[in-house]
Amino acid sequence: MRVFVNEPRLDGNEKKYLDECIDTGWISFEGPFVKRFEKGMADLVGRKYAVAVSSGSAALETAVLALELKKGDEVIMPTFTIISCALPLVRIGVKPVLVDADPDTWNMDVDAIEKKITKNTKAIMAVHIYGLPVDMEPVLDLARKYGLYVIEDAAEMIGQTYREKPCGSFGDISVFSFYPNKHITTGEGGMVLTDNERLAKRARSAINLFFGPKRYLHEELGYNFRMTNLQAAVGCAQIERIDDTLKKKRHIGRVYNELLHNAEVVRLPVVKTDYAENVYWVYGIVLDDSVGMDADKMMQRLGEEGVGTRGFFWGMHEQPVFQKMRLFDGEQYPIAEKLARRGLYLPSGLTLDDREQEYVAEKVQKVLREVQ
Ligand SMILES: *Cc1c(COP(=O)(O)O)cnc(C)c1O
Repeated sequence: MRVFVNEPRLDGNEKKYLDECIDTGWISFEGPFVKRFEKGMADLVGRKYAVAVSSGSAALETAVLALELKKGDEVIMPTFTIISCALPLVRIGVKPVLVDADPDTWNMDVDAIEKKITKNTKAIMAVHIYGLPVDMEPVLDLARKYGLYVIEDAAEMIGQTYREKPCGSFGDISVFSFYPNKHITTGEGGMVLTDNERLAKRARSAINLFFGPKRYLHEELGYNFRMTNLQAAVGCAQIERIDDTLKKKRHIGRVYNELLHNAEVVRLPVVKTDYAENVYWVYGIVLDDSVGMDADKMMQRLGEEGVGTRGFFWGMHEQPVFQKMRLFDGEQYPIAEKLARRGLYLPSGLTLDDREQEYVAEKVQKVLREVQ
């Protein structure tokens, strides 16, 4: 048997809506599915404005551009995340100021934020990691107290809630990704959401080269980050089954929890906190220090057994590209460093069935026994 780390589900109205694009000739961002998908996502999370873009990374670039952050500004963010969060800052000379991860939820340690605030701090970027949201209340309190923007990266948390409010509805501006392993996919795609009309207008303009009122005259450096009608057509079909998707993710999580509960040398995801129930966007495990192999070795062995896996993020402070730029010289974040070396995630895609999960769990136990 081979079990892939992720396979998307495309068996709803995806094909029908794509046919509509071809039949009507609407394929660019000016087609009707783009507006429908934007409205669908805005309604899903209860935001006023949504701007569809070409990827989650593009959404983060757009959010930073919309907020008009400037060289010398500082943004507090987790070190344990994808590089897409830091790139838009570094590119324009904004300093990412890092905080370590919480050892249980793997999200940014919100207690570490306040100490990092300086007179240059302009924003906090909260990134929900793997299945549980960041504890947003303290983040929002700090933002109010110090007059900071909040950027919410909810790429991994489409449909998840924090204290019963949708992820993606917090802070000044939020982003989603629609990469194939996200809860809603458009192949490649992303979205920027806000309740602020000025930010929405800037975002919409930034992704379309900042065209001015007089076409082909531009006042600022923009991007072409436009989503196509073809992508949005797939997205519209995907939104229709978001409830099922979340149910399936939680089912996958429950099944792994049962199958692996007696694997004492691996740390399983936290099932719930007082603000959210895990949605297991991916099912992560962390090997105890007592296990005589690291995540790379475990992934290699599982691969040989037909089980697809992927490693955890590597902290921003350990990125070779940022080390060359001497961005985080001498900084250490022990939790993130451990997660990068000891963490991996198991097949977590929507097409996974119970039998495949049993196979995966059996192979995890087998590989662990080899090094006991
Ligand atoms: C996937 C992801 C992104 C990047 O999205 P892309 O669409 O792959 O560019 C950004 N942030 C987080 C937290 C993600 O998981």
